[in-house]
Amino acid sequence: MSGTVFPLPPDATIGIVGGGQLGRMSALAAARLGYRCHILSPEADCPAARVSAGHTCGDYEDRAALEEFASKVDVITFEFENVSAAGLELLAARKPVRPGVAILRISQDRVAEKAFLNGIGIPTAPWRLVESLAELQEASDAVGLPAILKTTRLGYDGKGQAMLRNAGDLGPGFKRLVPKPLVLEGFVDFSCEISVLVARGADGSIACFDPVENRHRDHILDLTLAPARIPTPTAATAKRIAHDVAEGLGLVGLLAVEMFVTADNRVLVNEIAPRPHNSGHWTIDACPASQFELHIRAVAGLPLPAAQRHSDAVMKNLVGPDEIGMWPKILATPGLIPHHYGKTEARHGRKLGHVTRLFPRDALPGPFGIAAALGSLAPPGDGSTL
Ligand code: AMP
Repeated sequence: MSGTVFPLPPDATIGIVGGGQLGRMSALAAARLGYRCHILSPEADCPAARVSAGHTCGDYEDRAALEEFASKVDVITFEFENVSAAGLELLAARKPVRPGVAILRISQDRVAEKAFLNGIGIPTAPWRLVESLAELQEASDAVGLPAILKTTRLGYDGKGQAMLRNAGDLGPGFKRLVPKPLVLEGFVDFSCEISVLVARGADGSIACFDPVENRHRDHILDLTLAPARIPTPTAATAKRIAHDVAEGLGLVGLLAVEMFVTADNRVLVNEIAPRPHNSGHWTIDACPASQFELHIRAVAGLPLPAAQRHSDAVMKNLVGPDEIGMWPKILATPGLIPHHYGKTEARHGRKLGHVTRLFPRDALPGPFGIAAALGSLAPPGDGSTL
């Protein structure tokens, strides 16, 4: 098949499936290492293609586009996982795909994901596969209410989900969610949501960032605090879990593990994403090697540097026209490090950029300090809920 030789020499071409900001920031990291990137995406003027050497503009299911894309690159990676099985197979038959197709398949399906995690001894919320209303009834008896009903595939940022508070919510929830099958998950009364970014090289070496704390607004990530304000043993448990997931999957690349921390400091995995992740954007500014560099290094077969930070950080997403509308103000505010994704349309709910604010290590301020540091970007209120 491919004839690709690892480690990839500078000047080789890395193919990235997906044209969004994750691809853009991956391509910028790849450029620093001397690589070209070639993007596959259906959108002509996409954020990743704007900073890349090449672009195949075509649908992820379009055989001709996939063929052309594969012919232009030395290795293939993803910033977008929801490519059909047939598309994945076509790509994998032509060029090395990192992370591998088996990992993408697991991450595309919440049931496969949870079965894999539980199978290697990693705890999740209790869950049941649901294919009919009768099964939903049985599942709600088993996991209890409240619970969250989710599509097993194609869900993101809270889409494809229904909160079931009582028995009366079962029928409408089941009817509304498509495509079936669904998965019912017990509701986790978490004290915070965290994530761990872990990279694994082709040689089996692992680099794992400290856990970070994620705050959502309208189901979309709003803030990431690095590091997470959790007890040291809890942080160690979270890193151990990420390490075990990377090893269990035989990962080559970078992976985000999203987790819940409960009031009694248990750590439960919510989901995994085998690609750079929004909760790792702070690493661009706070670490010698960012999540994107680690990802590209793993994909290219280069040695992995340590996943260390020189600073603590807060990352704030710029979502929708109102927040990106503050761009001139952001540029004029000392200490805010701006990142603009160059998207042509500033739609409501769309991630259009982010800002990072650095703090000395081990000096992340409390809620009021964080709110003050973000200035007009701080969440409404006095910051006490941060
Ligand atoms: P997901 O699409 O699975 O990442 O879910 C989006 C968000 O919904 C998560 O970040 C949580 O805030 C919330 N959520 C998802 N699953 C659960 C659960 N089982 N218990 C409590 N909250 C959840």
